[in-house]
Amino acid sequence: MSASGGRTSAGGTSTPVGEAADVSVRTGTDVAHELDVDPAVGLSAAEAARRLAVDGPNELRPKPPAPLWRTVLDNFRDPLIYLLLAAVVVSLAAWVAEGARGVPIDAVVIALVVLLNAAIGFIQEHRAERAVAALQSVTAVRATVLRDGELHTVPSGELVRGDILVLSEGEAVGADGRLLEASGLRVTEAELTGESEPVTKDPAALAGTVVIGDRTDMVYRGTAVVQGVGRAVVTSTGMDTEMGAIAQMLEDAEDQPTPLQREIARVGKMLGIAVVGIAVVVMAATALANDVSTFSGMVTVLLLGVSLAVAAVPEGLPAIVTVVLALGVERMAKARAIVKDLHSVETLGTASVIASDKTGTLTRNEMTIRHVRTSSGELELTGTGYRPGGEALTAGRSGPGPALRHEAMLVLGGGALANDAQVHPTDGDWEIHGDPTDAAFLIAIHKLDEIADEVHRYVRRSELPFTSERKMMSVVVERVDDGVGLLVTKGAPDVLLSRCTRRQVDSDAIALTEADRRAATEDVEALSAQALRTLAVAYRRFDGDTAAESDEHDLVYLGVVGMIDPPREEVPAAVAEARTAGMRVVMVTGDHPGTAVRIAEELGIAQPGAKAVTPGELDAVSPERLRGIAATADVYARVTPKDKLQIVEALRDNGEVVAVTGDGVNDAPALKAADIGVAMGTGTQVAKEAAQMILGDDNFATIVVAVRQGRVIFDNIRKFLRYLLSSNIGEVFTVFFGMMFAGFLGITGAEEEIAVPLLATQILWVNLITDSAPALAMGVDGEISDVMARPPRRVSDPILDRGTWLGILFVGAVMAVVTLMTVDILRPGGFFSGAESLDTARTAGFTTLVFAQLFNAFNARSGTASAIRNLFANKWLWAAVAFGSVLQIAVVHTPLLQHAFGTVPLNTTQWVIAIAMASLVLWSEELRKLVARHLSSGCGSAPRGERLAGGHPR
Ligand code: ADP
Ligand code: MG
Repeated sequence: MSASGGRTSAGGTSTPVGEAADVSVRTGTDVAHELDVDPAVGLSAAEAARRLAVDGPNELRPKPPAPLWRTVLDNFRDPLIYLLLAAVVVSLAAWVAEGARGVPIDAVVIALVVLLNAAIGFIQEHRAERAVAALQSVTAVRATVLRDGELHTVPSGELVRGDILVLSEGEAVGADGRLLEASGLRVTEAELTGESEPVTKDPAALAGTVVIGDRTDMVYRGTAVVQGVGRAVVTSTGMDTEMGAIAQMLEDAEDQPTPLQREIARVGKMLGIAVVGIAVVVMAATALANDVSTFSGMVTVLLLGVSLAVAAVPEGLPAIVTVVLALGVERMAKARAIVKDLHSVETLGTASVIASDKTGTLTRNEMTIRHVRTSSGELELTGTGYRPGGEALTAGRSGPGPALRHEAMLVLGGGALANDAQVHPTDGDWEIHGDPTDAAFLIAIHKLDEIADEVHRYVRRSELPFTSERKMMSVVVERVDDGVGLLVTKGAPDVLLSRCTRRQVDSDAIALTEADRRAATEDVEALSAQALRTLAVAYRRFDGDTAAESDEHDLVYLGVVGMIDPPREEVPAAVAEARTAGMRVVMVTGDHPGTAVRIAEELGIAQPGAKAVTPGELDAVSPERLRGIAATADVYARVTPKDKLQIVEALRDNGEVVAVTGDGVNDAPALKAADIGVAMGTGTQVAKEAAQMILGDDNFATIVVAVRQGRVIFDNIRKFLRYLLSSNIGEVFTVFFGMMFAGFLGITGAEEEIAVPLLATQILWVNLITDSAPALAMGVDGEISDVMARPPRRVSDPILDRGTWLGILFVGAVMAVVTLMTVDILRPGGFFSGAESLDTARTAGFTTLVFAQLFNAFNARSGTASAIRNLFANKWLWAAVAFGSVLQIAVVHTPLLQHAFGTVPLNTTQWVIAIAMASLVLWSEELRKLVARHLSSGCGSAPRGERLAGGHPR
């Protein structure tokens, strides 16, 4: 190993380290040397930073962050903005043609509106981007590296060539590297090579060049450590890795649009086409009806068409959707549900089955041993968690006999030897490192000096680690004083018993008969029936340093312990909530069926008397039968990660949208197969990488909270769609029918002048300025109807169903009618005969339209529930409405804005008329909802999802 003084060339990092295949035939030390790093010390922080700056972040398809100017420009790229810019040019041309007198008002106003609109879009997008960036930093997968001689965890993206990667079970390998050392290191490379069996790794250099799958001295990005430990020097990062090469090949690896994105694009396109049609008709009709011959007349018509198009298309939609999703994700993160990408929120709301682990998710994972059962009977451990200062233990019911006591000590002592945890007493409690199941044994023997002393006489030689597949673990230990070697095994009693041939009675090992086996199984079942987690302990003499899995037989059965693992208090309520929300909760656990069922009953997941499905029942059956089982089973026990994958797939085949939890390396396939993979915050990096959501607190209840949020967010998106679309359609209808019935309504101008119901600038004002704030406020609205009182939305359901569209059209029509009625009231002709000027009538109509939209903000919060429900819950909405009102008063009464938007002051009567007419939007919609609620409670014809909502006042 070269000394750290060997940093020869500063430019060493930018020359590649030969071909990857080449690396595998040289020694690790050579490679490290070439990469200018001392394997014992690692890079210095400064050198790592320098290399990061030179080589760039360790990311696949790295996207350079868009510079500010690009983001700004992007807001102008919308075709509608082009239209508006065209409108600016047209009106400038008209102004020039008319002799360029004064200020080109229209042009200036339109330009200003375009700028303002771009600014709003920019702020929204910036906000959304910030939220996404924050999200990524929270959920970044981390790697352990040696730098400056110390271990650090860094985001995987910051790995550089020459970094010394420290690998251990559950770590995701973040970059390609050459192994320097390894011990029992096994890595799954399925992602890279398709090989599902883990590969054993070894630092010894290979004799010749072989394919990736056979390079046992290398580790690759995207693979995961299943077992063992090791160190590797990073040889390539980012796109230079083997994964990068694959990413390069998959050119169309572009993210698929989510259903929501597709739907919004579809609605936008549909409206766009409809509107261009309408605009053309309006322009043609106007031109014909008015016999347009002057240039300024044509300009007016053109501007009207353009602004109409602008009005009708909800161009800000994608940005608003992103902002709303981002705000929702922020809120979810506060509730400790960390969603990795915005669009998972969408899927969350549609979840129909939650398949949850038991230990740690439904229970607290605070294991305390309460019972020990051996050949000679049962011993109870008392004391509250054997607090370090508190009372210790042992009271058999009639006082333990010496044999029982001795056997129980062996069980606990054995469990403490076959153990990977550490515990330290802290004031009145325990600080636990490692698996709580292991820790329970250490805590149990803490106060039992006799057995603790005995345990300390052994040293460990080697270990066969615990995995969820094996459901047991073993250690080889040696007694220091006399060199006696033992293999000590602890694990699931059923698994262990099948490997035992003898049992311990006091100080002797005697043959294990069938009757003994049955008795032991009954012991286990008796403990399980009390919802206790059971673990058995066994041993045998063993000479030698390392054992293989084939050595775990011929064991002497010592006994079994029962541990309590209290359920989390929040869970029963969360399970009940999931139920009312139309979701099934399914328990998938590696634990004993008896224990699983008892806890499932306690939590309300299973009915009393339910039975657990065990893998034996899954293995042999046909896929159809499996789907049948999956349709009804509530509890799966003794499950391995592979079974879990099968269960998830069967549920998905049944058409369910499945959320599944997981924490181990081997859970990754199930997490990926699920619609929503949920990793534990305390889980492995691999699980976190495979998941869409991470539970900061490991708590089942948090999943339900996240689903609820997902539904609220989706509802809010629906709300502002309802709002924006009905407002836009209202504008289009107003202009369209205004032009159609212009003569009748009294919309007529002086000679040579085209009379329009709304000026182009006024349409833009309504659409781009007074509209935006309420729409945004809608996105952060609370829940109006109880989102958890209805079944999950089907993924195939359109975001706006037919009923909603009809509602939208209805409101749009009402808006147009009230606006045109206002004009009619003030102008000669029509139903009412007023005597005001066209400017006054138009200003009043314009004001009516603006206020109609503000009133409509209250309508849009629910498709069925009255606007009065939770009327004051959303302060942003009120602020937005107040803001819009003030702006409208300003546009009517300040000379500068009057000049810009062609308005004139209104008197009190006219204001009253405008607002009264506008309010009709609210009243008529209330009436419509009343009828709809009445009908749906009568004949159940309301659209799915909204039916229950209307019937549950909160
Ligand atoms: P779960 O987390 O759902 O309880 P696991 O796969 O972790 O499932 O555990 C399955 C079984 O393996 C447990 O019921 C227990 O009997 C056994 N077991 C769990 N942890 C350990 C451990 N640390 N050592 C030995 N056996 C264990
Ligand atoms: Mg577990």
